[in-house]
Amino acid sequence: MENNLEVMPEHLAAHVQTIRRLRQFGEIFWQRGWSRGTSSNYSAVVQRHPTQLLVTASGKHKGWLTDSDFVLVDQSGQPVHADQPKASAETLLHCLAAESEDVGAVLHTHSVWSTLMSARYASMGGVLLEGYEMLKGLSGVTSHEHSEWFPIFPNSQDIPQLVEQVRAEMSTAQQPLHGYLIHQHGIYTWGKDLDEAFRHVEILEFLLEVLARQASLG
Ligand SMILES: [Zn+2]
Repeated sequence: MENNLEVMPEHLAAHVQTIRRLRQFGEIFWQRGWSRGTSSNYSAVVQRHPTQLLVTASGKHKGWLTDSDFVLVDQSGQPVHADQPKASAETLLHCLAAESEDVGAVLHTHSVWSTLMSARYASMGGVLLEGYEMLKGLSGVTSHEHSEWFPIFPNSQDIPQLVEQVRAEMSTAQQPLHGYLIHQHGIYTWGKDLDEAFRHVEILEFLLEVLARQASLG
């Protein structure tokens, strides 16, 4: 992580703490096998009215992100400064989650278990997680006697179309979603701040791994 030659771009200097946290998340997720290679992307809301998000730049290895590997974008995913690297192709999915003012960070991982389980449950449209103690790690959940619907969307390179599918599900869901899966791709989740979003990744990864290992035990 230390690189003395690294110079942080001026427009990012005010967000150094957020950048360092997101770099740390990248290292941890990479070590756990949830963000291998250049997969995954992470963001944090750094301003409201108007909204600005700090998003990982496209094509950067998540195990060794640098201070320069971030882009500031507006609510529509457009860069708010010239001379920035290209934002992640999936930036609009971060912008969608950040439309809610209760959301302060959005994290997307590509783990083995989420990839496997998104395929296994695709025909059912989602995964129902219920009865697990670990569900209490999701914000607002106070009992293991909780049913959490974790929808699965078809993978697509047409991100605006995917955004509309996710938006439609969010608006009709019976309870607020904590995240969703994309088919054979990975998890999207969010939280009121970086810590909560990180915890949601851990909880959802744990629960999907439990379901997958349970299925493999027969
Ligand atoms: Zn992805």
